[in-house]
Amino acid sequence: MDLYEYQAKELFVKHGVPSSEGRVTDTVEGAREIAEEIGKPVMVKAQVKVGGRGKAGGVKYAATPDDAETHAQNILGLDIKGHVVKKLLIAEAKDIAEEYYISFLLDRSNRTYLSICSVEGGMEIEEVAANNPERVAKIAIDATKGVDLAKAREIAEAGHYPAEVLDAAAITISKLWEVFIKEDALLVEVNPLVKTPEGEILALDGKVTLDGNAEFRQPGHAAFADIEATDPLELKAKENDLNYVKLDGEVGIIGNGAGLVMSTLDVVAYAGEKHGGVKPANFLDIGGGASAAVMAAGLDVILNDSQVKSVFVNVFGGITACDAVANGIVQALEILGDEANKPLVVRLDGNNVEEGRRILAEANHPLVTEVDTMDAAADKAAELAAAAK
Ligand code: GDP
Ligand code: MN
Repeated sequence: MDLYEYQAKELFVKHGVPSSEGRVTDTVEGAREIAEEIGKPVMVKAQVKVGGRGKAGGVKYAATPDDAETHAQNILGLDIKGHVVKKLLIAEAKDIAEEYYISFLLDRSNRTYLSICSVEGGMEIEEVAANNPERVAKIAIDATKGVDLAKAREIAEAGHYPAEVLDAAAITISKLWEVFIKEDALLVEVNPLVKTPEGEILALDGKVTLDGNAEFRQPGHAAFADIEATDPLELKAKENDLNYVKLDGEVGIIGNGAGLVMSTLDVVAYAGEKHGGVKPANFLDIGGGASAAVMAAGLDVILNDSQVKSVFVNVFGGITACDAVANGIVQALEILGDEANKPLVVRLDGNNVEEGRRILAEANHPLVTEVDTMDAAADKAAELAAAAK
């Protein structure tokens, strides 16, 4: 889960990373009030989960509450790379002497943690890496040792921070590492990390990505979820503990096991080419225990996707055998009643497949077509979706 800057800064405060004082608002009046409260010049900052806000006009300096009001007026509703600004962070404007870059991330390809550090901050790090690669340091971090003050100083030095800021920067960098580890983050990036004219080191921007796999031990993170911005179908799936990702297509997909569902997407996309270019509408893995309740919840999510014209249920009976899955499908259709209103193509294989197919044949549901092979079933589902388009 990506966080907004203001949320990232909440975590910074929690772990003692120095930043600038500020509060978030969603109104012009709110922006003015916060600016008055701070009583000093402020930055009016668009809260969108995308970089380059400054260049896009989403970060403005306001000397007075009047200016803050004007900027808030202009920035609220602004479209920044497809993200419409609904919230503003109003933060005390700090004087900046120098801008640096620092981040911690998970380096999957090298199976390690990585710090990227550069004295050239305030601009896009990709740009610095392309034009001045020798100014960008990449330092692998041993997960068992972590980042103590000495390591933090080494990182700052490798990034060519000036000698006089190394000690102060090391303190901030080691605290950012604490954010990274204690909050189970996949990314903590600060750009710019600034030196003020007084020699203070402050994190004036913050980008944090939290690891969803650690949700179970981070109960506090639920509060960061952006419910308004989450796709309603994905929200519904999450409430039912379903592994669902909405895609842009017409054939709803249900399968058991991530690998089978992935290959089902491929097979449907391929079959769809012959039927006017219909595509899979989603990824949905209902896991090993394909009970009626889980099947009903999955079908419910998919049938509520208005783009979906047909559904392909592709199940390989393993621990949960095909007869149980077939019963699950029949009962799910009963549970859903009139809400089940799109054709279903079912392909069953694996344990007790004959019994499973017999159950479906006996139920003889008008919406269900049973097809024995994955390719033929994908073709049928694509054909039905194309016909209903
Ligand atoms: P981004 O463009 O999305 O990365 O947003 P940032 O929060 O990094 O802000 C963009 C730029 O605005 C920074 O690189 C700074 O140059 C400037 N900026 C941000 N906060 C302050 C501040 O408190 N004081 C001053 N003087 N400039 C700031
Ligand atoms: Mn930035």
